[in-house]
Amino acid sequence: MSVRAIVGAQWGDEGKGRIVDYLAQKAEVVIRYQGGDNAGHTVINDKGKFALHMIPSGIFNPATTCLVGAGTVVNFDTMEQELASIAKAGVTGENLFIDWRAHLILPFHCLLDGAEEASKKSGWAVGTTKRGVGPCYADKAARVGIRAADILDPERLKVRLEMLLPQKNEQLRHYNLPEVTVEELMNKCATWRDKFGSKIIDTLPILRDAVKGGKEVLLEGQLGIMRDLDWGIYPYTTSSNPTAGGACSGAGLSPRYIDSIVGVVKAYSTSVGGGPFPTELEDEVGEKLRSIGGEFGATTGRPRRCGWFDGVAAAFSCWINGFTSIAITKLDVLDEFETIKICVAYELDGEITTNLPDTAGQERVRPIYEEMEGWMESTKEARTWEELPPKAQAYVKRLEELTGAPIGFVSVGPEREQIIIMEE
Ligand code: GDP
Repeated sequence: MSVRAIVGAQWGDEGKGRIVDYLAQKAEVVIRYQGGDNAGHTVINDKGKFALHMIPSGIFNPATTCLVGAGTVVNFDTMEQELASIAKAGVTGENLFIDWRAHLILPFHCLLDGAEEASKKSGWAVGTTKRGVGPCYADKAARVGIRAADILDPERLKVRLEMLLPQKNEQLRHYNLPEVTVEELMNKCATWRDKFGSKIIDTLPILRDAVKGGKEVLLEGQLGIMRDLDWGIYPYTTSSNPTAGGACSGAGLSPRYIDSIVGVVKAYSTSVGGGPFPTELEDEVGEKLRSIGGEFGATTGRPRRCGWFDGVAAAFSCWINGFTSIAITKLDVLDEFETIKICVAYELDGEITTNLPDTAGQERVRPIYEEMEGWMESTKEARTWEELPPKAQAYVKRLEELTGAPIGFVSVGPEREQIIIMEE
């Protein structure tokens, strides 16, 4: 198995970072295929604890080439900060490259992100992190965006900015925000060119050679399927496609070259931002999940909404992504729950369904729960399936059944070795 996609199977924050960090120890190439610096991966390894936003989680292995793919949007200011934070741990980032097709998040994108979000009617906020990701993707789709390659060609950049800025300044004026000039953005891009110019490359040959050479390649997604622009809880979605399908277009390879697709699922559910979240627990049980699980955003520190595992969403996710296996994370967080519930169906307008309704329907559903007895002992030390308590095994097996893909990994703690490998 050489090419593997790692996909968030829920609402994001499933623990993809730790799974990629683990798998990247053997990978020759890791490529981030979509999104920007609006979500964080937390990685804990022998070098320390890191919150990565844009840099692929393979960065800690100097032998791994880390690519920021064509499907991403890049803010070079935050990338610089991120590189500085890992440099403190002796990680040089020499193995990092950015595809020249990636779009650039410019300072006005962040301003517009905040203003657009603030202008929404009550209850309709998406819950964006105001990192400019949505406005940048909007410019990309409108074919007025600035790509990484453009900063390598100042003449071209100037023309592109001259075409883009009149409409952007109109939007900025609309929100009473300061206007921008071509000159200031040219200067900004010049500083980025000085720092990152040599890292802006065509990543395709690297990926193609690795795939053709049978090397170990990881495709790293950000966020989760329920925030996918097409298949998620629109409009409370991100502006790109975290799905396995998105991995192909964002990284630059055909679906036929993907050998395995690992869906990362948390043993319960969390969501950050707006939109329906059927199994949400707004009580002391939700509070307990949040405090034991440390469920606070890696990028923003926002408390995450917490709830029981949602088997309807997981089965939907499995179909859309075609998981060849699942990685269940944070099983240890459930160690102290006497009873654990699992959502196995929804009741929608008096009907029981296991099909995921559209956003408005998801807002109305009532989760149908099955209850399982908790194991009430630590799983943190388990390194093999046999070392898990039988009740924990039964719980994991039920998640496997509901999701519809075999278990590949069970993670029982944030440390690199706190993982049970089932697939090899
Ligand atoms: P990502 O964006 O999908 O990588 O997820 P986050 O990094 O936002 O959230 C995962 C958090 O859970 C991080 O703080 C991890 O260190 C932590 N974590 C990952 N796996 C486990 C696990 O199995 N158990 C526990 N207790 N924490 C974990």
